[in-house]
Amino acid sequence: MTRKSPQLLIILGICSTLMGCSKNEDLLIASAPEITPPTINEWRVHGGTSLEQRYSPLNQINKNTVPRLSPVWHHQFDDARGLEATPLVIDGVLYTTGTWSKVYAFDARTGELKWQYDPKVAGSTAFKACCDVVNRGVAYHEGRIFIGTLDGRLEALNAESGKLEWSTLTVDQSLPYTITGAPRVINEQVIIGNGGAENGVRGYVSAYAASSGELRWRFYTVPTVAEKGFDGAISDSVLTMMRETWQGNFDFLGGGGTVWDAIVHDQALEQIIIGVGNGSPWDHKLRSEGVGDNLFVSSIVALDDKTGEYRWHYQGTPGDTWDFTQTQPIILADLTIDGEPRQVLMQVPKNGFFYVIDRKDGSLISAKGIVPQTWTSGVDMTTGRPIETEGARYEDKPFVGSPGGIGAHNWHPMAFSQNTGLVYIPAQIAAFVYKSFSGFKANEGAPNWGVDYLANALPSEEEAVLKQISETLRGVLLAWDPLTQKEVWRAEHEGPWNGGILATAGGLVFQGIATGEFHAYDDQTGKRLWTFDTDIGIMAPPISYQLDGVQYIGLMAGYGGGYGVSTPLAVDPHPRPNGRLIVFALNGTDEYSVERKEFGPFVAVIGEWQEDTLAVGREIYERGCSLCHGPSGRSSGVMPDLRRSAVLQNKEAWQSIVYDGALESRGMIGFSKWYSREEVEAVRGYVAGLANRALAREPVAD
Ligand code: CA
Repeated sequence: MTRKSPQLLIILGICSTLMGCSKNEDLLIASAPEITPPTINEWRVHGGTSLEQRYSPLNQINKNTVPRLSPVWHHQFDDARGLEATPLVIDGVLYTTGTWSKVYAFDARTGELKWQYDPKVAGSTAFKACCDVVNRGVAYHEGRIFIGTLDGRLEALNAESGKLEWSTLTVDQSLPYTITGAPRVINEQVIIGNGGAENGVRGYVSAYAASSGELRWRFYTVPTVAEKGFDGAISDSVLTMMRETWQGNFDFLGGGGTVWDAIVHDQALEQIIIGVGNGSPWDHKLRSEGVGDNLFVSSIVALDDKTGEYRWHYQGTPGDTWDFTQTQPIILADLTIDGEPRQVLMQVPKNGFFYVIDRKDGSLISAKGIVPQTWTSGVDMTTGRPIETEGARYEDKPFVGSPGGIGAHNWHPMAFSQNTGLVYIPAQIAAFVYKSFSGFKANEGAPNWGVDYLANALPSEEEAVLKQISETLRGVLLAWDPLTQKEVWRAEHEGPWNGGILATAGGLVFQGIATGEFHAYDDQTGKRLWTFDTDIGIMAPPISYQLDGVQYIGLMAGYGGGYGVSTPLAVDPHPRPNGRLIVFALNGTDEYSVERKEFGPFVAVIGEWQEDTLAVGREIYERGCSLCHGPSGRSSGVMPDLRRSAVLQNKEAWQSIVYDGALESRGMIGFSKWYSREEVEAVRGYVAGLANRALAREPVAD
């Protein structure tokens, strides 16, 4: 139970400066602990409350006590791929998701595993997923746990037993759809979106009856060409409006616009606010002949919270051509702006702007870049549109985009503290070279970015250059004032791809980072007050809950995800340990250690390949294989470093895996649909060259 404390005075102090806050339900609860319902001490929905502020009103763990914070229990999962989930805590049970859409229920006090559920997603599904076999969490409603599985099912489990109650297919599984996002339950309906715009799909969000799994409505976020007529969906009312913003045969790859993360319930205005992803393919010239805004790609869209009917939208990146998804987490709040109480949403999409938007009609209140942006010089406040810089659309020559495709901010949740009125953002600085892909042809079901990814291939031989590049990659925890649109403090980390944020009434900001350290900061000054080294890279956001008078912090530690699997440069590449759920409290006595593994030696490969064969191998490897195994053969350690694999030495073994699919159950499909045996052998030749040269540079110590 929250006690009256100096913290309370701080909350009230903020209230007097933010006049609108008396309307804020959460603030009222925080300032009147004697009427606090018991549930406020738990973490019952994805973002903490429906406002998704990721602010915990608990303060037993605070600036004074946090040095005593240590693990009380942990659970080790069964593999070493990415963990992104926000756990839920409901009636003393902690529910979370691991890799491959597996669901786990633990006693939140002791860590005893109550049940686990494996939806048995086929290994081949991994190929559809741009960004690892991750999942960002479950939803709970009236005794049921809801999970969206990687292969596109929405399932309801009995929260007590973990038994499947219903399962419904939400996608056409012949297309490269995936689900990694958490469902939300809104007015007895489970709302779920999907991903897949990197390979080519048409985005939408659906509502299913929580009791039965029956489809209630669907809203398509991008149109089809006019000849295809209407969908018979709730989005039909705006389909013509959408179509007017596209040109040509624009739906040949589905158009994109997937709703793969933010789905927020604005209870006050009875609407659902969704964030919509990038276009498919990325390049606007390929997708829409370089013409039109392409609604609702890279937009926020508000829908009626019962019927799904369109209300308004705001498009941050009209005619997106940079993979600037706008599906990043959305925070709702009441702010007093220029003396006027406003019901706002706050969001930092990949494009790098911190947006404050009026939830009544989607009108832009303010927008400011949080990191250096090369594609824009700011937002024109009369039109609400970004002012683009010359050359940013890479029409005639390549463009060094910052932010690039991983964004100034990705799915890693930010938090809004009612203690300070600040938003804490896991920001990223990582450039990407955008280059037109001349001769681009869509590859069915495979990555179809439509930009020439080879422009980003590493100069694998030049260690000094690699070091230089890696030093330009930064992760920044930003404390941002949404009223003044100014940075208040920052903490810089190695590399981008650091973890999501939790802010607490204890005056703390928690963040885990890619190196595996888990930090607590003073929310006002940014001073680091506590660190625990998990020895596992962290991406997921922490949560907090209190049971029997003990405040806990829960965290999923596991490295991977889109950037984590594909980029070795940022942070300490090494074979990754299995992921863990770690729960902390004051004076915890859990014994915790992780054995660090190192890469094995490079292998020597005997064989001869012609120059033109090697060029074919390089093209296939760097455009495709590198998305998991790393550019120039350098793995981040989540997936095998092929330069160190004995399989590389054996032509038959290589063929059986890469062509025939011998390791499909682990997610490594066979590529016979796209490549010949000769091409697969050419890839072996290219990787063999990488291995042999690496071995020559770094001979194995005897
Ligand atoms: Ca994308």
